[in-house]
Amino acid sequence: MARIRICPRCKQPKLRPATNVSGWLAPEMFECSECKYVGRFYIEIDPEDYELEGEAKSKKE
Ligand SMILES: [Zn+2]
Repeated sequence: MARIRICPRCKQPKLRPATNVSGWLAPEMFECSECKYVGRFYIEIDPEDYELEGEAKSKKE
């Protein structure tokens, strides 16, 4: 199953490759469209895990 990358700052799957940052190609950099995070770090998870985490939060007792 394909994994998804989520932002390490806001935990949202809003990351996209950040290209042409500072005028040069940065293939290992990622930009978050949610919180404007830019960096090389990201969290890679299975989509199932992401859904489970969401359920756990919504069912907080
Ligand atoms: Zn973010």
